[in-house]
Parts: sequence; C-alpha cells; structure tokens
Amino acid sequence: MTSGTAQGEMIDLLVVGGGINGAGIARDAAGRGLSVLLVEQDDLAGHTSSASTKLIHGGLRYLEYGEFRLVREALIERERLWKMAPHIIWPLRFVLPQTHSPRPAWLVRAGLFLYDHLGGRDELPGTKTVRLDRTPYGAGLSAGGRGFVYSDCWVEDSRLVVLNALDAAERGATILTRTRLVAAAREAQGWAATIADAAGERQVRARALVNAAGPWVAEVIGQVAGAKSERGVRLIKGSHVVVPRLYEGDHAFMLQNADRRIVFAIPYEGRFTLLGTTDQPWDGAPAKAAIDADETAYILETANRYFTRRLRPEDVVWSYAGIRPLYDDRKGSASAVTRDYVLDLDGGHGKAPMLSIFGGKITTYRKLAEHALGELARFLPNVGPAWTAGAPLPGGAMPGGDFARFLAGIEAERPNFPPALLRRLARAYGTRVTEILGPAASPDALGADLGGGLHEAEIDYLVRAEWARTAEDILFRRSKLGLHVPAETASRIDALLAARTDLSRSAAA
Ligand SMILES: Cc1cc2nc3c(=O)[nH]c(=O)nc-3n(C[C@H](O)[C@H](O)[C@H](O)COP(=O)(O)OP(=O)(O)OC[C@H]3O[C@@H](n4cnc5c(N)ncnc54)[C@H](O)[C@@H]3O)c2cc1C
Repeated sequence: MTSGTAQGEMIDLLVVGGGINGAGIARDAAGRGLSVLLVEQDDLAGHTSSASTKLIHGGLRYLEYGEFRLVREALIERERLWKMAPHIIWPLRFVLPQTHSPRPAWLVRAGLFLYDHLGGRDELPGTKTVRLDRTPYGAGLSAGGRGFVYSDCWVEDSRLVVLNALDAAERGATILTRTRLVAAAREAQGWAATIADAAGERQVRARALVNAAGPWVAEVIGQVAGAKSERGVRLIKGSHVVVPRLYEGDHAFMLQNADRRIVFAIPYEGRFTLLGTTDQPWDGAPAKAAIDADETAYILETANRYFTRRLRPEDVVWSYAGIRPLYDDRKGSASAVTRDYVLDLDGGHGKAPMLSIFGGKITTYRKLAEHALGELARFLPNVGPAWTAGAPLPGGAMPGGDFARFLAGIEAERPNFPPALLRRLARAYGTRVTEILGPAASPDALGADLGGGLHEAEIDYLVRAEWARTAEDILFRRSKLGLHVPAETASRIDALLAARTDLSRSAAA
C-alpha cells in the first residue's frame, strides 16, 4: 500500500469503486478523520463517471417525472460545486428552441420558472425568452421562432473524480487503482476483504464497507459472503458523439425530440460539438458498453432536424458510451427510471455494515457522500462532522472563484508561454498548475513536447500525483488531449512511461 494504511491493520472504511461516488465518499470520510482505503479495478473514472454528458445540472427534464427532491438538491449543489472547483466547472447557457417541441410553450415556461426558483441560484443568470432569428443564439439553426435561454454548469467529469481522490489521499486515504475487490466476509469486528492487483491477492480488514461499484453494484453484493439486498439496479446505456463544431457561440442547445426525449448539443474542446445522449437498456458486461449504429443515427437525426449543417455518420470524430447504474423503481421506459439515488444498508444488530449505492448523478455526489457518512456514523463512533460544503477541491482555491482573473495572473507571470497552453493547464490543474510549471520561463523547460503541448513535466505530474499509468489515462481521462494530438503521441507516452518504470526499478534494485 502506498500511504496511510499499513497491511493487516483494521481500517475504518473500505470503499469499492473509484468513480465519482466512491471518490466523493473517500474524500468526505478521510476529512472526517476516518482511515480509508479505496480500491478501483481499473483507472479512476474508468467507466460511467467519464462517460457522462458532463453537466452539473438540476435536470430540467426530471421535473416532468415529479423528481422535485432530486432537482432541488441538484440545483443547490450546482453553484456550490462551481465555487469548489471553478477551474473544471463553469456556467453554460442553454438554448431551448420551441421548434419541433412536443411540449406547449406554457409548459416549458412553467418548468423553467420552477427551475429558476426551486433553490440554489444566486449568481447564474435566470431564464429569458428570445426570438432565435434575432439573436446570436440562433446561429447554425435551420429555423427561427421562439426559444428559451436558461443556465446550468459544465464539468470535466473525470477530472472531478481525480480531484476528489487526490483530496482524499492528501487527507490520509489510500487510493489503489487497478486493484479489485474479489471477496469479502464478515468477521467479529468488521470485514475481511480480499483485494487483488497485478502482483496478486491480499487481505485487508475494515470496520465498514462501501459498495460504490456503479454498474457492478449487484455483482459486488454477490461477492460478499452472506450479503443480500432487496434493491435492484437497472443498467441503461447512454452514448455521445463528437463532431466538428456545428455552430458559433459558447452556448449549448437542448433539443427536444418527438419521443419527448432530449439531446444536448454542447461546445466541446474548442473545435468540436458534443451530441448526446441515448437511453438503451443494457444486459451485457458494463465494461463492454459501446455506441451502436442505431444510437448514432438517432443522435444525428435529432441534430439534423435542428441545424443547417447535415451530419452523416462519417462526420463523427469520436464517440463514447457509459452505463447508468440506476435504482430500479420498476418504471417502464428507460428514460422514465428515477435518476435519484438510494443508499442500501446491510448490517446492524452486531453485523458489520455494507452500504451499497444505487443510482446518483455526478451533480449530487457530494451530497450523496454526506448522506452515506450519515448512514455509517452509528457504526464508526470516531467519525467527524460534515465538512465538504464549500471546501475547495485541489486547484480550486482561487480568489473569489474568479477563473478569468486567475488565468490573467498566470499569463502575466509567464509571457513566453503560448496562451492556449497556459489556458489548458490552468483549466485542468487550477492553482496546482505551478506544480507542473515550476520555475519554467518557457515551455522548453518542461521537457519534450509529446504532441499538442503535452510535455514530460505534465506527464510526470500525472503519474506522481494523479495515478495515471497509461497513455489512455492521460489522453482521455486526465485530459481530452486524445482529440487533438497525432496518433503517435499515445505510443510516445507509453514508451516514456515504460522508460520511467525501468528507471525507478533499477534505482530500487
Ligand atoms: C450517458 C450518461 C450521461 C450522464 N450525464 C450526466 C450529467 O450530465 N450530469 C450528471 O450529474 N450525471 C450524469 N450521468 C450520471 C453519472 O455519470 C453517474 O451517475 C455517475 O458517474 C455514477 O458514478 P459511480 O461512481 O456510481 O459509478 P462509476 O463511475 O461506474 O464507478 C464505479 C467504479 O467501480 C469500479 N468497480 C466495480 N467493481 C469493482 C470491484 N469489484 N473492485 C474494484 N472496483 C470496482 C468500476 O471499475 C468503476 O470505475 C450520466 C450518466 C450517463 C451514463
């Protein structure tokens, strides 16, 4: 183990799963003074938590399903999370055209009124009505007419996970990636769990177990001797495509479909537009999720109904798919299943506790973690009080939460750096950017550029501080540089990582 927890020692909490929920719970627990071990079988955010639409949002659509509790909690979290991590979370205006709308304008307006007033909106601008042919918001659309403009936020989802894990580690948690929970059994004082990595299996002992395995939540319950749950999970695949930028402007679109589903079009990585998502029941292995031709056709047809530029499957430059691990509330259609979360506690009366997480949104992860620690508190008498509301994530403590001012300061300090590189680094690492830049006065001092401004110093930081182990970890989860760099960058990174590993092995020998 790398830090914090010695082998054989009884720890307070074993968290299974390094998606947003596991990382958020580990952070919260470590900050309350608990000893924590998190195991993730692949990379942090290796599954659903890097495959979302990347919105910190109340979920306007969920109002139609009467999910007022969820929407209110999510709306309150929205500005809170923005303040905690203004480098990776920022406001986004959404245009909701009324053309092709299956809902009457009065209903949409009423929904948006509720959305603006359910709670938590202090700084984000409220909704306004626009004539799309008379404002820049109509750019790229094939029809004018009336539309609404409302606010939500964007998040770099996989970086949010990593920052939670990093903060957890800095507060004493041990984070082990590429390490799997194989089995767990109750013993007198808690759990005896078997975990496995490339080196083999070993035992750890913990007072409480958190099952934050996302789409694998039921499988993990099955791996635990004598465990049972009345709850079920419903696996629903959602896919996205990335196409060359479809329209001018920094705003996103919420496009309504005849089936009452919605598809978002969002500015992505400067040169692109992100389009999604779908709702498809999934019964395969969660790790095998991939977009299919029908989903691509559905997303592109929706976009083609709204935009002047006609998209064909060949226009798709990248796609990704993720599995929503939704709590099974026995609703018929995939898009109607609740997006709220349920915490299922197995334990008490002398039985060591296992808390399983069903459902949940990225937006509500912090609150979910607070609720989870609340559930576990009676088993862990040494647990401290809730503390995460307003506590900045690593890199997020910038004066006034003002990213633009922070960036201007860095640009002024480093005039010999290309502004685009500084901007990318400041967005990714916030105030921690100095750990990569050090005293460098120009990019040459950061080592070789492996493509797209990815220098050795950044790779070394990602390996040292953020658990990156492969080119894919770096190009598609710690960043989205994979969309910008030449194909050979991946093999150059892997060669560099292998050389670094050989070097550290021979230093240790
Ligand atoms: C298409 C789509 C769009 C979405 N859009 C949004 C959005 O815009 N905004 C929003 O707020 N939410 C959104 N969500 C929801 C959100 O992404 C998920 O609710 C959230 O990421 C789930 O996180 P998790 O930690 O529960 O699961 P995961 O991220 O899947 O993490 C679980 C982890 O557990 C690990 N694991 C499993 N078994 C074991 C084991 N035995 N040992 C060790 N590790 C194990 C897995 O490898 C995995 O990494 C979206 C979801 C999808 C699919």
